[in-house]
Amino acid sequence: MKRVILLGPPGAGKGTQAQALQARWGVPQISTGDMLRQAVRDGTALGRRAQGYMNAGEYVPDDVILDMMQERLARPDAARGFVLDGFPRTLAQAEGLDRILERLGVALDAVVDLEVPEEELVRRLSGRLVCPECEAIYQRDTQPPKTPGRCDRCGAELVEREDDRPEAIRRRLEVYRSEAEPLQRRYREQGLLHAVNGMGPGDSTLREIERSVDAETAR
Ligand code: AMP
Repeated sequence: MKRVILLGPPGAGKGTQAQALQARWGVPQISTGDMLRQAVRDGTALGRRAQGYMNAGEYVPDDVILDMMQERLARPDAARGFVLDGFPRTLAQAEGLDRILERLGVALDAVVDLEVPEEELVRRLSGRLVCPECEAIYQRDTQPPKTPGRCDRCGAELVEREDDRPEAIRRRLEVYRSEAEPLQRRYREQGLLHAVNGMGPGDSTLREIERSVDAETAR
């Protein structure tokens, strides 16, 4: 059973690693960003509320995120464990998550903090392509799809994310910097935080994440 959080700035590789861990561990990747983008595409009340914040690179309000996660974490597939990608992002969300997990009678195993220098984040986000159907992630220069513009997995047409424009990227990094530190401190104090170098090739990052989580769950 693995219950893990992936922390890290936009472009650190949380989505890519969380998808790989989902396949390795057989637990769901739970991405608040993916859930919100789906809600925007479906035109739900949640999507309409979130869209403006997302396009501007701002955080969606904590109560909206916590309501969504309370419902998501109570679903049967999450009883086997989960990889949280992009949540929690604020101290209030981390506190809310603790309350949700307490009610479910479970605890976190580890919090992995993916570290990548800022110039590299901007480079990655600027050339990112995503699949709107299956959420697969590509990078124009370093990880292009086999057929230009098409998803390797499902064949859908790849798109750039609305919030991967330069102004939104800048704002997202700024918001991350102002919110991340208290979260990292909280999880460090709880003895759960593992910093992992997110700069190397994706599979070496994956191995490093697995090593730190295995060390934690073997205790
Ligand atoms: P992501 O795909 O994780 O980069 O998320 C895309 C956007 O969705 C973010 O820039 C926020 O606007 C919003 N979002 C995703 N997760 C959260 C969260 N935990 N708290 C607040 N906003 C979020």
